Amino acid sequence: MSSQFPPELEARLTRYAAIDSQSDALSPSSPSTEIQLDMMRLLEKELTEIGASDVTLTEYGAVLATIPGNTEGPTVGFLAHVDTAPQFNATGVKPRVIKGYNGGEITFPDNPNLVLSPEEFPYLADKQGHDLITASGTTLLGADDKAGVAIIMTAMRHLLENPEIPHGPIRVAFTPDEEIGRGVDARLPKDLGADFAYTFDGGKVGEIEYETFSADGAQVTVTGVSIHPGFATGKLVNAIHLASKIVEMLPQATMTPETTSGREGFIHATDMVGGSSEMKLTFIIRDFERDGLAAKGALLKQVCVAVAATEPRAKITCEITPQYRNMYYWLEEDMTPVDLARDASRALGIEPVSVPIRGGTDGSRLTEMGVPCPNLFTGMQNIHGPLEWISVQDMAVATDLCLQIAQKAAKG
Ligand SMILES: [Zn+2]
Repeated sequence: MSSQFPPELEARLTRYAAIDSQSDALSPSSPSTEIQLDMMRLLEKELTEIGASDVTLTEYGAVLATIPGNTEGPTVGFLAHVDTAPQFNATGVKPRVIKGYNGGEITFPDNPNLVLSPEEFPYLADKQGHDLITASGTTLLGADDKAGVAIIMTAMRHLLENPEIPHGPIRVAFTPDEEIGRGVDARLPKDLGADFAYTFDGGKVGEIEYETFSADGAQVTVTGVSIHPGFATGKLVNAIHLASKIVEMLPQATMTPETTSGREGFIHATDMVGGSSEMKLTFIIRDFERDGLAAKGALLKQVCVAVAATEPRAKITCEITPQYRNMYYWLEEDMTPVDLARDASRALGIEPVSVPIRGGTDGSRLTEMGVPCPNLFTGMQNIHGPLEWISVQDMAVATDLCLQIAQKAAKG
């Protein structure tokens, strides 16, 4: 299957992965890092070279393009993000190709202590004979999501070179800053102009994802009473002590990321900074259901109220901000994009698997903003770390899926 695509996919992914395009959550600019534009300018050039139309680098740092339809059909969008995760070193990525993987342990040229083993990662054991791409041991690879970019670029190049393949209008979007939750600019849905879309940002072959967490952020601010400790008797109120009480009163043996799985949500304390006069605590709240999300926010607020009641001279505020919502709230109304992807997958002989994502995707925001957008597999594994790897043959299957979707969408 797909024997024609691996050389192109390998060349594209190794070319893209070598470019540092890490995003930065602390940067206020858009895109968050200037280096992402290096990737964007390259993609702008490559899209023009393969003959795409309307190739545009937007003000907010996304590259958009059109593959004009040669038959009637809805406008389908394909998206991938160009930024790599800030959680691990992404500078100086040296992609390495292992041709015809022998099924054994994989070692890394720049880090002798690192081993990628098929015992630990059973999916790897299935990939004997595949061509694998990894980094060199000191960086992540960035297949998340440059594999998605390579898949979409390869599929679009193929459609443009083979005009006898029937498809409707296609819009392509390569976006920045997905890893820091800022991938979907308010202008993107309109600029994309797609009836529905897909992100190629998933893992194992067969995964078609249409349920994500719903997400809120919470900021708790504890303001104590600050006085020189030498004159503090009966007056000083220490914000650190009150902040500790809040953390202590929250569930720890349950309702945390480390004690939940599957469809269970959580409250996760991500940050606590400050001093005796003021403390700021940051939380992320996650659940698949609206009720569950609201209940967790209410619990956090109750804890803050209870701690505040123990010390009336302190001030404790809890501000909850919506982040993104489960895309299934919208997709359940119209499963067409999901059914289309599942049919396309079955046409390739791959039984689709749908597992709720314990996180969000650019598609969560896009769906909420009116462009239904499930997430499709690329093959990427062990993302955001030095053991990241991907099979070129898995990417070829994803490329076939993209082409199948394009054709099936036109048939209606
Ligand atoms: Zn990703």
